[in-house]
Amino acid sequence: MEPAVPVSYYSKNNGNHEYDDIIDWFENLCENAGHVQTQTLRRILQLNYGVEYLKKWFGERENLNIQNMDACALESLFTSTVPLASHADLDPYIQRIADGDEAPLLTQQPITTLSLSSGTTDGRQKYVPFTGHSAQTTLQIFRLAAAYRSRVYPIREGGRILELIYSSKRFKTKGGLTTGTATTHYFASQEFKIKQEKTKSFTCSPEEVISSGDYKQSNYCHLLLGLLFSNQVEFITSTFAYSIVQAFSTFEEQWQELCNDIREGTLSPRINIPEVRKAVLEIISPNPSLASKIEGCCQELQNLDWCGLISRLWPNAKYVYSIMTGSMQHYLKKLRHYAGELPLVSADYGSTESWIGVNVDPYLPPEKVTFAVVPTFSYYEFIPLYRQKEDCHSAIDDFIEDKPVPLSHVKLGQQYEIVLTTFTGLYRYRLGDVVEVAGFHKGTPKLNFVCRRKLILTVNIDKNTEKDLQLVVERGSQLLSQARVELVDFTSHADIANQPGHYIIYWEIKGEVEEQVLSECCREMDASFVDHGYVVSRKTNSIGPLELCIVETGTFKKILDYFIGNGAAMSQFKTPRCTSNQVILKILNVCTIKRVYSTAYG
Ligand code: AMP
Repeated sequence: MEPAVPVSYYSKNNGNHEYDDIIDWFENLCENAGHVQTQTLRRILQLNYGVEYLKKWFGERENLNIQNMDACALESLFTSTVPLASHADLDPYIQRIADGDEAPLLTQQPITTLSLSSGTTDGRQKYVPFTGHSAQTTLQIFRLAAAYRSRVYPIREGGRILELIYSSKRFKTKGGLTTGTATTHYFASQEFKIKQEKTKSFTCSPEEVISSGDYKQSNYCHLLLGLLFSNQVEFITSTFAYSIVQAFSTFEEQWQELCNDIREGTLSPRINIPEVRKAVLEIISPNPSLASKIEGCCQELQNLDWCGLISRLWPNAKYVYSIMTGSMQHYLKKLRHYAGELPLVSADYGSTESWIGVNVDPYLPPEKVTFAVVPTFSYYEFIPLYRQKEDCHSAIDDFIEDKPVPLSHVKLGQQYEIVLTTFTGLYRYRLGDVVEVAGFHKGTPKLNFVCRRKLILTVNIDKNTEKDLQLVVERGSQLLSQARVELVDFTSHADIANQPGHYIIYWEIKGEVEEQVLSECCREMDASFVDHGYVVSRKTNSIGPLELCIVETGTFKKILDYFIGNGAAMSQFKTPRCTSNQVILKILNVCTIKRVYSTAYG
């Protein structure tokens, strides 16, 4: 069995050899990914056999010798004995752990930390166990991805990274377990400290800034220190593309204040957390010439609507790096606008539950990126998904599913839902993500992220996923681009309170546009839903005309603040593309300044 983390690759302080080692390790695993997966499952079961959840399915099989059993036989026994599960099936166990039950419920080792999944795609935050393995694999995938990137975009030794990362607050459950988002736990882990220590010269912000718990204050300091070290910055990164766009849209408003702080060596009173003030003030000193240079650049950039902001202000940066796929795709346009000539490199694929795949082709544009599954992180199964109607042109209609297959049996071009069995006590857990096998990296599949499986817009027989909505909004917003107006963000709601039910799409836009153009956008979007159920229902008027609501500037920031106020982390925030949350709907409706309907259909 391969170790989860290759033996102390950090101890080697020999530049790129360290990267070569981790790539060699991964490529070797990939040669025989099917076999490694079987061994990974065996290791998980050897560690956790006998826990209450597994006993429920295996019973008290005294004569089952897990430690010595053949790995393939164990794999078939496991998949034929333990059923597929959803979060709801495991929730009662996780809840007992949260309440302080110390019996081995999901893992033999006690779970002392729980993660909160962002809940911004699903509407509900979920508790998931977090263990040392979670932090180790996070460190490992970051190093692996960095190794592949360094082959395409080498960075200077001693350079820095402008890391727009944010911890959120951690709290204790009734049973005394530490809870917070997975990224927050990682930033507080030994693994992150190792990374910080070993690469001390690389990061712009001290730990106090990352863990301030107030993303607005962290953001200001990240930008300030990023500017201060601007000549040394090798790349700019954040977990999700959304945070980078947010950071630079704030920069557009705060650049004068930032320049003032750089000139005087002061720190704006908007930073009022004493530890953060102290840590930042220790680093900064007056730099009038840098302040004047940045000010000059910003005055020019203002006239260019901030196009090329990143490449101008960070002249030595080689690329911009973050997750840009899935629901982040919408922000690509704005990110490209800010990045100028700099390449955008899309980051890896994972979830609070487990990391899944690494981007081994960092030179590809984000639209083409795939993720090579890392076969030691978890045991993965794949539920084949087929479209219900072969003759339908819908991007994704309703799914029909087949029996799950192991990693070694996936087929090129086939779509699947991912199922995870993890070292942290999740067994045959349906993640709810739809992926497509786009190729292979040696023996491991390269996955394309398609969408969350859950239908987001449905009134009656119509079925639309996040991906369907994304395509529709892209079509509709092309008309906006022609009018030189920017679509800042969007979400939607299926209104079934009034008859006939209908879809509402909310847009926040930047720029002036005539009502007639908006009506055309609305009509175009209505006609772009190709789902058969929607088309039929619209024709018979059992679904009413599409409604497009334009919300005032800043509405989506209010939504962000609502989620952050409820414990979501900036590092993991994803704008919900559809919502039934009454508070969010209230914000959207109060902020609606224009409303148009798609009158003519078909
Ligand atoms: P979280 O709630 O923070 O655990 O979010 C995990 C979810 O974010 C995954 O299940 C995916 O739906 C989405 N996600 C994570 N990484 C990527 C990626 N590289 N591309 C697209 N979607 C992603």
